[in-house]
Amino acid sequence: MHAIRAIDAFDGEAFRSTGATVLIDDGVIIGVEPYGSEVPDQCLVISYDGTLLPGLIEAHTHLVTDSGVSALDRVAGYSDEQIDEVITGALRGQLSAGVTTVRDLGDRRFCVVQRRGRRPAGRATEPTIVASGPPLTSPGGHCHFMGGEVSETAEIIRAVAERVERSVDVVKVMASGGVNTPGSDVMRTQFTTAELQFVVDRAHQAGLPVTAHAHGTPAVEQAIAVGVDGIEHCSCVTDRGFGQVSAETLAALARSQIAVCPTIGVDPGLMKEPPPAIKAMMERMGVTAQQLLQDRRDFVSRLHHAGVRLVSGVDSGIGPAKRHGTLPYAVRELVTAGLSVAEALATATSAAAIACGVGASKGRLAPGQHADLLVVDGELETDVTALLRPQAVLLQGAPVTI
Ligand SMILES: [Zn+2]
Repeated sequence: MHAIRAIDAFDGEAFRSTGATVLIDDGVIIGVEPYGSEVPDQCLVISYDGTLLPGLIEAHTHLVTDSGVSALDRVAGYSDEQIDEVITGALRGQLSAGVTTVRDLGDRRFCVVQRRGRRPAGRATEPTIVASGPPLTSPGGHCHFMGGEVSETAEIIRAVAERVERSVDVVKVMASGGVNTPGSDVMRTQFTTAELQFVVDRAHQAGLPVTAHAHGTPAVEQAIAVGVDGIEHCSCVTDRGFGQVSAETLAALARSQIAVCPTIGVDPGLMKEPPPAIKAMMERMGVTAQQLLQDRRDFVSRLHHAGVRLVSGVDSGIGPAKRHGTLPYAVRELVTAGLSVAEALATATSAAAIACGVGASKGRLAPGQHADLLVVDGELETDVTALLRPQAVLLQGAPVTI
């Protein structure tokens, strides 16, 4: 048995005024006591000055992307060895930022799902992976090169069955086009409502949740109507800009308790020049990069105040400003949008764990949870930027080099 303690602590849902001493046995939390509490004899204790919290959970990443310019464009051309190296680098980037669980929402031909299954027994050295495999998309649609094109009922049946067979954790479907796929349109739907409903029904019958990529307002409305479990991006974009959605639709979204991952969060140091696809969208909408970020933030604020269930994810890996390990910036962005620090942190810990299907073992400082932990330098409750200064990261109780 050993213990990690820190004078400040966030337990996944709230800050603890007493700090915390987390007792760990065999990689699992067996007790959470105040900072100054006695520990059993022979129990090794490591103390920190900063804030202790559960390891972060990113709800939307692409481990097959290398965080370079036009990273998605390279995915189709990698050999199997190359793609495995990219995944290794991505996981390392995540871990060094304190991310101990990732949900991968789009790989190439199940390579991330396979990687998840190859995890060696014994000490964990990489973040836990939750994965969807290739997203279902229309022929030639958003991210079609990942291998998930479907066009009719029989293909949907086959595609869902393959995902069940490969034990994916979630089905990802591209309800709208995407920014980075030429020929697909972010503002339009990719499937009919009946087709999307069929995807959801088949997945639910097999016990799998569904999360839908949806930028344009029609795709968001369609996703709500067919009863998905999650919506990615949820920009509600039209030619008039972001957040073009009625109060009734927002109320329905809140009522549905669909988990919305707004995929905000960029590393400002790397946001020199917006990628060409984003530039084209800015021109179409007649907005500047600063305005675009502000509009996104304003809409996330509206979602939060409407009572929508938010989780944090960056869509990491797809470009330099969204490199693997940018999740702390997404949390900070939520605070700027008006969430309390505790609310924002919950979107990247306890709430993310539930949305990713790992709530029983991840996302909280509580007995029975895996001891995936993060210590950051500073008092996080009053200074969210402390999240950008990781001091220690532990996977199942063991410190890792960051
Ligand atoms: Zn994505």
